[in-house]
Amino acid sequence: MKLASLLVIPAALLVSGYVLAQDIRTPGVATTSPIRKDKVVLTDAEWQKKLTREQYEILRAKGTEPAFCGVNLDQKGEGTYYCVGCNLDLFFANTKFNSGTGWPSFYKPIDRDRIWFKTDREYGMIRTEVLCARCDGHLGHVFNDGPAPTGLRFCMNGKVLKFVPKKGEKGHGGR
Ligand SMILES: [Zn+2]
Repeated sequence: MKLASLLVIPAALLVSGYVLAQDIRTPGVATTSPIRKDKVVLTDAEWQKKLTREQYEILRAKGTEPAFCGVNLDQKGEGTYYCVGCNLDLFFANTKFNSGTGWPSFYKPIDRDRIWFKTDREYGMIRTEVLCARCDGHLGHVFNDGPAPTGLRFCMNGKVLKFVPKKGEKGHGGR
C-alpha cells in the first residue's frame, strides 16, 4: 500500500464517522423493547451460563468484536442468520453484502419486528444500536450508507449470529 493511501484512509474514516453520526429511524421499527409473547428474559447469571464469554460480551455487555475476526464474515450461500441468544431468525443470507468494514453486513432484517433501534451516544458519537426483538441482545449498529433497496447497512457482530444453510432448514426460530 502506498503512503498516500495510508494517509487517505484514516482521513476518510474520520469524515465518514462524522457523516454517519446520526440517529436512524425507520417506520415500523420499534425504539423501545418490543412486547412479544415469546420474549426471552434471563438473569445475568443465566445469560453467562447460556452464552460463551465472547457472545456474552457482545450481546449482554454491548461489546464489539474485532473487525475481520472472520466469524460469518465471508459466509456465503442461501440460508438464515439467527440470534445466538434466543434463536430468533434475523437476516436472510440474500440480504448480506460485502461492506468492506470487516463486519458481516446486511441491508435489511427478515422483518421489521425482528429488531429494534436504540440511540447510542457512546464515544462522543451518535449512532443507532440494533437489538434483538426477542432477547434485547446487542447485535451491532445500523448506518444509512448501505446499498439499494433500503440504503441501510446493518453492521453486525458475526459472533452473535448463527448461520443455518437453506438445505435441511426446518424453519425453526421463527416468531
Ligand atoms: Zn435474540
